[in-house]
Amino acid sequence: MSYALSPEQVEIQSLVRRVARERVAQRADDIDRSADYPQDMYDLLRELGLFTLPFPAEYGGTGSVLSACIAVEELGRVCYNTAYLLVVQWLPFGAILAGGNDEQKARLLPGLASGELRGAFSTTEPQSGSDVSGIRTRARACEGGYRIDGAKIWCTNAAVSDFVLVAAKTGEQADGGAINLFIVERGTPGFKIGRKEDKMGARGVPSSPLFFDGVFVPERNRLGSAARGFKIVMEAFNQSRPLIAARGIGLAQGAIDHASAFIQERHAFGQRVGEFQGVRWMLADMAIQTEAARQLVYRAASLVDAGVTGAELATTAAMAKCFATDVAMRVATDAVQLFGAAGISNEYPINRYFRDAKVLQIVEGTNQIQRNIVANALLGRPAARPA
Ligand SMILES: Cc1cc2nc3c(=O)[nH]c(=O)nc-3n(C[C@H](O)[C@H](O)[C@H](O)COP(=O)(O)OP(=O)(O)OC[C@H]3O[C@@H](n4cnc5c(N)ncnc54)[C@H](O)[C@@H]3O)c2cc1C
Repeated sequence: MSYALSPEQVEIQSLVRRVARERVAQRADDIDRSADYPQDMYDLLRELGLFTLPFPAEYGGTGSVLSACIAVEELGRVCYNTAYLLVVQWLPFGAILAGGNDEQKARLLPGLASGELRGAFSTTEPQSGSDVSGIRTRARACEGGYRIDGAKIWCTNAAVSDFVLVAAKTGEQADGGAINLFIVERGTPGFKIGRKEDKMGARGVPSSPLFFDGVFVPERNRLGSAARGFKIVMEAFNQSRPLIAARGIGLAQGAIDHASAFIQERHAFGQRVGEFQGVRWMLADMAIQTEAARQLVYRAASLVDAGVTGAELATTAAMAKCFATDVAMRVATDAVQLFGAAGISNEYPINRYFRDAKVLQIVEGTNQIQRNIVANALLGRPAARPA
């Protein structure tokens, strides 16, 4: 399996790298500090046509997850939040592409691809995050559709979205029935979006609680079949995991960029800090780990592009997400160390990288959950615990 970049991918890389340097980098600190949604960055991504990147040609895309990873990496190198704007849009797109019917695809995908529509994806609830089977939000069948009751937390992008894909259990038994996804449109009576979280990292893209009080959702807004819709979408998420991992390599590379510049300017004991062997080896290790993560992420993306599915993709994609985001955390931690006290000061950008890296180890399946996927592939699932 080859993942050398094609001439088209090299072109995407150099275009996005230039735009990131010239138009995104100078906004990154302000977005982080103000925690205001960066509408100007959203408009820039639209102008460049980047929302379409990973998707089939019929939606104006390249059909290549590797191309999309490259764009995410270049943006994430200077601004986590701007890279996040792409990824957060791609989750509902991927879900509808995998699990939606023709009418739902025709209604929503062109708008998501062009950036005219915004979407969000919501499974997490106060009592259950990693364990999706523990959700309590309920969708009860009624005439013409469903009524949804329940509450969600940490739904990213909901505050600016036209619709949210909401996971809810159907059925009447105490533990609910199968999980289904429902398209809940903004402004639907009974659907409320709460106050955004004040977050340590990923501050520019809002994450909010959601409340559902007898929200009517018509039948045409249930995604996929009642029995299999959710499972199909969760399987499809293996394909978007390399995109999440790509934020890790971009972040690590950006932290290396800042640390390299700093240690070449800063002096101690009569020489540049960058001339101490201990410091040079630290930087070398940061670069080695980042390159290793990049190769794993590109390989996972190339598997998707080659049409590989099933256990091989699931395992490689989990390895890529886990490794790249753990590397991002280690590299960002070392970068702060190389800045000394300046690394702690908000006058320098490096602590932003540190805070954003921590988020990456938790979102879109924590790194423990990714390790479970890999361990299960090696050993099989652990025996069920006695009740
Ligand atoms: C910035 C941000 C944005 C988010 N955006 C969204 C969003 O848009 N939509 C959405 O639905 N959710 C979103 N989330 C929620 C996120 O998906 C969950 O936080 C995540 O899945 C973990 O769930 P939890 O926080 O409930 O932790 P828990 O599941 O309670 O886990 C607590 C700890 O236990 C560990 N753990 C749990 N189970 C196991 C296990 N089986 N083996 C080993 N360790 C385990 C976890 O890894 C973690 O360290 C977001 C979170 C953040 C921080």
